[in-house]
Amino acid sequence: MNAPTDTGSTATSPAATAAPAAGPSFDSLPLSPAMLANLARLGYHGMTPIQAASLPLALAGHDLIAQAKTGSGKTAAFALALLTNLNPRRFAVQSLVICPTRELAEQVTLEVRRLARAEDHIKVLTLCGGSTMRPQLASLEHGAHIVVGTPGRLMDHLERGSLQLDALNTLVLDEADRMLDMGFFDDIATIAKQCPKPRQTLLFSATYPEGIAKIAATFMREPKEVKLLGQHAPARIRQRFYEVRDDERLHAVSLLLNHHRPVSTLAFCNTKQQCRDLVQVLRAQGFAALELHGDLDQRDRDQVMVQFANRSCSVLVATDIAARGLDIAQLEAVINVDIAIDVATHTHRIGRTGRLGQDGEEAGWAFSLASMDEMGRVGQIEHAGGFASEWHPLAELTPQGSGPLQPPMRTLQIVGGRKEKIRPGDVLGALTKDLGFAGTQIGKINVNEFSTYVAVEAGIANEALRRLSSGKVKGRSVKVRLLEG
Ligand code: ADP
Ligand code: MG
Repeated sequence: MNAPTDTGSTATSPAATAAPAAGPSFDSLPLSPAMLANLARLGYHGMTPIQAASLPLALAGHDLIAQAKTGSGKTAAFALALLTNLNPRRFAVQSLVICPTRELAEQVTLEVRRLARAEDHIKVLTLCGGSTMRPQLASLEHGAHIVVGTPGRLMDHLERGSLQLDALNTLVLDEADRMLDMGFFDDIATIAKQCPKPRQTLLFSATYPEGIAKIAATFMREPKEVKLLGQHAPARIRQRFYEVRDDERLHAVSLLLNHHRPVSTLAFCNTKQQCRDLVQVLRAQGFAALELHGDLDQRDRDQVMVQFANRSCSVLVATDIAARGLDIAQLEAVINVDIAIDVATHTHRIGRTGRLGQDGEEAGWAFSLASMDEMGRVGQIEHAGGFASEWHPLAELTPQGSGPLQPPMRTLQIVGGRKEKIRPGDVLGALTKDLGFAGTQIGKINVNEFSTYVAVEAGIANEALRRLSSGKVKGRSVKVRLLEG
């Protein structure tokens, strides 16, 4: 596999500030005088950090993976590149920008139009679901230079043949992390396959989940990487140790959860029996806790994983073996219910929370519960890590917030999946366009072979179940159930 870190060079700069601040001048870039004048007219007096780091590479024609937080000016970073590649006299789609949602596609279209004003008559077309086909088809007939759209609708146009990509020279994946979240990997891959091979591919993302490497390896060419998050420094992991008696260990886990209120926690036990006991205790107290163990068949395991990754399960309880290969981008806390059997296992466990980071400033928690019998192993961990453990008393753990911790999302399971040719866009479309929910209320969508899972905000779960059960997906009625957290 061609991981981007192996093939590309990496630029790092300090984290971008919230409001784009005037940085280095755009004059240093190979941009036309008309474009420079337009930027000045727009009040863009200097580059934002992500623009300064990515534009020289993008304008030199490199494939690029750029990561910076929301509001850092990523749109202009790819828009200037695709506009530079564009020949306005050629009436064919030369750039395609794929966005996760209609709202984002519309925002991107506006920004691209503003930047395109330097040249006359550049046509930018938005192709999203939720709008009728006919005007889109008419606009495509008239010809567009730049298309901005969402995966589902773009696929529809490609299947109909109304969108042709043979003149394309720039493919942009905007908010790639969000698209991966929404299960659009396959759609993006299908679209990318229909783009000419000699092209520039630019990927923009606010975070860096593991799926990005898969995109890079599948359809990018030696991408350069630009990250503004200091991802190279290991994310800060705050470790705390609590001394417990064996008979208070399981209860201590709920004290930790209700005090720190992490959205997603991975709790490690040394034995299967301990896992079972802990899940029972947590569920009895009203937590959304699930167990991952070797006895689950693949389908159940997938379902547990989906619920944890889409934030509809607060705590996943696992042994080290069962947790092997878990790929979770966002994990606020790891709890060592038992101290790991050796230092390497401990390091591996707590390293999972370090992968967190919307903006790189947040750190993950690693809580460890240790009885007198385990102090020897804690000593080894301290020694290997070169630090003195920070001990805290259980008594300081007082419940915060109201009631037991609840997950922000719930999972709806729809009977039918890839076998029925269901795509994430079909489910998103049914919930937003047909059933009236907002895109922001919908979380991850996972399409498995026989089942589709969609995370919805907990507050709308029952209503979404009701409406989806009497509504349609892909023109067909579907069986839906609400999974228990
Ligand atoms: P992101 O995609 O990183 O979330 P946007 O591209 O939406 O960020 O940009 C955020 C805002 O900053 C937009 O209103 C955009 O017009 C503005 N902006 C972008 N680049 C500059 C710049 N160089 N100078 C001033 N404002 C900028
Ligand atoms: Mg953006």
